[in-house]
This record gives sequence, structure tokens and C-alpha cells, in this order.
Amino acid sequence: MNRDANHFRNQDSHSNASMPIHHSSSAYPSLRNITIEDFQLSSTGLTEEQRAQALAQLHEYLSIQKANFLGYQVNQQLDYEDDLKPYLNYHVNNVGDPFIDGNLTIHSKWMERAVLDYYARVWNARLPHNPADGESYWGYVVSMGCTEGNLYGLWNARDYLAGKLLLEEHTAEEEARVASFGGHPRSLLRRLIYKQALPLDGQPHAYTPVVFYSEDTHYSIIKAGIVLGLHTFYQIGQHYYPNENPLAPGQPWSKEVPSTQGSTGPGSIDIPSLVKLVEFFAAKGYPILICFNYGTTFKGAYDDVEAAGKALMPIFQRYGLHERKVYYDPSDPNQFDLRTGYWFHVDGALGAAYMPFVEMAYNAEKIAQRGPNFDFRLPFVHSIAMSGHKWIGAPCPCGIYMTKTKYQLRPPDNPEYIGSPDTTFAGSRNGLSAMILWDYLAKTSYEGEIEKALYTEKMAEYAVQKLKELEQHLGESLWVERTPLSLTIRFKQANPNIIFKYSLSSETLFVNGQKRAYNHIFIMAHVTTQLIDQLITDLRQPGAFPSQPTVAKPPEIAPTRHPKHLAHFPHLGRGFH
Ligand SMILES: *Cc1c(COP(=O)(O)O)cnc(C)c1O
Repeated sequence: MNRDANHFRNQDSHSNASMPIHHSSSAYPSLRNITIEDFQLSSTGLTEEQRAQALAQLHEYLSIQKANFLGYQVNQQLDYEDDLKPYLNYHVNNVGDPFIDGNLTIHSKWMERAVLDYYARVWNARLPHNPADGESYWGYVVSMGCTEGNLYGLWNARDYLAGKLLLEEHTAEEEARVASFGGHPRSLLRRLIYKQALPLDGQPHAYTPVVFYSEDTHYSIIKAGIVLGLHTFYQIGQHYYPNENPLAPGQPWSKEVPSTQGSTGPGSIDIPSLVKLVEFFAAKGYPILICFNYGTTFKGAYDDVEAAGKALMPIFQRYGLHERKVYYDPSDPNQFDLRTGYWFHVDGALGAAYMPFVEMAYNAEKIAQRGPNFDFRLPFVHSIAMSGHKWIGAPCPCGIYMTKTKYQLRPPDNPEYIGSPDTTFAGSRNGLSAMILWDYLAKTSYEGEIEKALYTEKMAEYAVQKLKELEQHLGESLWVERTPLSLTIRFKQANPNIIFKYSLSSETLFVNGQKRAYNHIFIMAHVTTQLIDQLITDLRQPGAFPSQPTVAKPPEIAPTRHPKHLAHFPHLGRGFH
């Protein structure tokens, strides 16, 4: 069973594949209850018996970890096997636009469209999608999780605000015909040209979007900004207006919009700060791109998108950003696209999936509180992204991106526009994700979702109560906190055995100058009182909470020599470690 490095050498000696310089099972992390060597692959594959042994270990490992899973906002209650098991042997590919079937016929796009319609309703968008109706929604089921939805949203926002245009190219056919005289066949591609709108006189910043997000933002937003070459208010402010920080005149700019103890609890974006920062750039003619969090990763806070929009609209009006003309034909001043000079993206990875049902529960007087409005009811919301594997639960990461048809980059007001099917980020797309989401929604009702939301709320209250009782029992503060309506509860960091057992995620916060290591749990639909009780039992044992060295003052973050290029880019991400 224990195949060593010699085994590899003998097996692979006739192939042209290279050899490891030493056995990789000593080079990679070891894992409790897994014999890594049993999983090594070689040129001959494994015998049936070896494979069965390895798979038995896999099954045992995942079953145990699943049963105790508490640390992340990933629902472990899955029920897809009966309906979808056969489709592991199908390659289902939803390549291209979900509303155009295309020639790759092994797809599940009609199911994808049903899923999109479902969320269009729940998020109060206009449906069905209609390419001729700009107010109707457009979206797709992403192959990654919410990260892809955020990346796509910011990409769309960047091009929209930066005055990028997609124009039809009419010369393709003639070019291909002429080129084919050379003797080589020429393929005829229907092409769109990616263009930059004409600069606007006296408005040098008109096509330089400025990005805003709060200090509780998920790292995928920051990553997307870097991939897309976007600049934050901090980068532009610190570089071009170093002494004009509107939040603290004369002081360096803050890297992100401050978060606050808002009505929706700690961790939501501080609207007065946001307004001051946005006004500074709007007054200079910069288009504004704001990423809101709807359920922050660590504290589970909800940005009040509606209050932010209401506070900002008069500013956009004042500086002509509520609507502007983007000219695309130098010879014809009547050719322009009407666009907003701002974009509101809502990162609703977890919250967008369940807050609509909390609202329904609230309307039915089944719960005392609801989250702020965030969806397409708000005329200023441009795009929403959501993870499919978090609230809903799925065997693989998946999610949804949704916007309005009029915000898609496409040939402006061109009645002949047929549509580039290549509207999505990925080329090949995971058709299984759409089937999974469809299967879930086909088995649930709004009533079922409301019950699920109420259940998790009740379970979160239960966990808080049990942790508070434990505090009493231990006679020490465990720093237990929960943002109202959030599904996450944070408390003092436990020992590594407990962290591993429950897959707890960790975060370090400074509180009044004191460095504190926290864990948090997420109360998803699979969490039961038994699981919480079991955690409490483990936390009650001596040594459950290792003592933490306290640091009097947070260390200064060393500035680089070129602070103007400094992006605040967490190495490990926020919450997901
Ligand atoms: C989880 C999360 C993401 C990223 O989603 P993935 O599905 O992991 O790609 C983005 N934003 C927030 C607020 C999240 O909680």
C-alpha cells in the first residue's frame, strides 16, 4: 500500500514523464485520517482495490467533516443525488449566452433561463429577458461562485462608465471575400468592434471610473478591481489630490470607505462618509462605481443600498452623472448612447439569496426585522451577484449574475443587432450548475424558503444563547457577537483541534488597541441544535480557548515607497481562511 519513490521510478522509467525529486507525500500538507500516499497517481493507475481503499478514505473523511461543518456560509444540506446522479456521465455545456441556444446542443440553457427568471422575480427585475426591452433583465449562471459575478459586474461597469462601445463591423464579409482570392479559405466571423467614446471637451475625467467599497468588502471585489485595472478613490485621491481628503482634510486618504455601527449592525458601509467621498469625485466629473455588500463575509452586515442611493442621487443630478451622452460617431453629433455616470453593483453572495424571503416573512409578521432593500426595485441598482453554493447549497461553486439589458455593452440602438452570443465571462460554462439550481428551486416554494430563513434565524439565536451561557459558566468573556439578521456569530478563537473539527474560519480584529483572534460560525440550513450543543461541549473543555498574547498597539502598516500604487489587497482573503 505504501508506495514509495522507487515504485514511481520503476513504474515510470519507460515514459517521457519526469520524476519527482522526492516523494511528494512528504512535501505536501498531511491530513488527519487520510493516508496521502494511498492517493498518489502513477503511470499505471491504481488497482481496483487500491482505488476502492482510497475512495473509502475520501468518503469517510468528507462525511465526518460535513457532519460537523460550522465555519463557512456553505449549506451542507444537499439533496441532488436522486435527480442528478446520472448526469456525471454527461458533458453539459452552456457555452455562450443563456438566451441563445447555439449549436452545442448538449446544454441545459432552458433550465438556466428558468432559474434566472426565478431570481428575476425574487429580485423584482422585469422579465422575461427581451433583447429589445432595455428594462428587462439579463444575466447568466456563472461557473465560479460570486467571485465571477463580481468580476463580470465590475467589468461591465468599467466598460459602461469608461465610454467603451461595441459597434457592428460591416466590412467583415467583404474583407473575407477579398482575402480568399489569395488561395486560402477565409472564415467569416461576425465581428463587433470594441471602441472608445470620443473624449468630452472640458471633462478630462469623464471616462475614468472611481471605485468605492467599504472596509468589510470581500476580497473578490479587490481582486476584480486589480484584474480590471480599476482605480479606487484611495488610489486616485492619494495620487492626484493628496491634501484634499474630504473625510479628514490634510490627512492621508483612507484606503476603503469606513464601515459603521449602522442600523443594520456593525460592518455596513458608512453612508455619510460614502457621500462625502463620492461628492468629491462627482464634482470633478469622474464616473462613480460603488460595490455594496449584501451580507459581509465576516460580520454578515447589510449595506443600506436604498439609503445610499437616495443620498447620492441629488449629487449625481447636480454634476450631470444621473444621465449623460456618450458619443460614438465623430461625424454625427446626433449619435449617442444615454448612460448613467454611476454604477451600483450589489455583492449579494449570501444575502441576495435569502433576504427576499426574510422580507416575505416580515410582511407576514413572522419575523420582527428585515434587511434593507437592495434589488432591482431600486432604480439605481445596476447589477447583483450571488453564490449558488452558500444559501442554496450545491456540490460545486456556482452562482448568478444579473443586470438590466440596457446596461449590457452592445451596439447602441441598432435595430439590426443580432447579438454576440459571447456575452459571458467564461467560454464553456458549467451546465450542471444550472441543473443543480433548477433542481433545488423545483423542490422548494417561497413558503419553504421562508421557513428555511426562519429556521436559520432561530438557530442563530440559539447559538448566541448557548455561547452566552458558556461565558457565564466559564466566568470569562468570549467576545460573542452577532450582527442583527446575520447568520454568523463570532467569538474568541478556539484551539486547533476544535477549529479543524468544525472547519471554523478565523479572523484577527483589533478592539480598542487589543489584538483579538476570533472564530466565527455560520448558521446554514444543515445546522441543528445537536451540532451547536456538540460545539459547546467541546468549547467547555479545559484548553478550548488558548490564551492570546495581547499587543498594546497595532503595528504600523509599513507604507511602500510608492504609496500611489498601493492597493489594499489581502493575501488570504477576508473570512475565507
Ligand atoms: C463568499 C463571498 C464572495 C465570493 O463568492 P464565491 O462564491 O466564494 O466566489 C463574495 N462576496 C461575499 C460577500 C462573499 O461572502
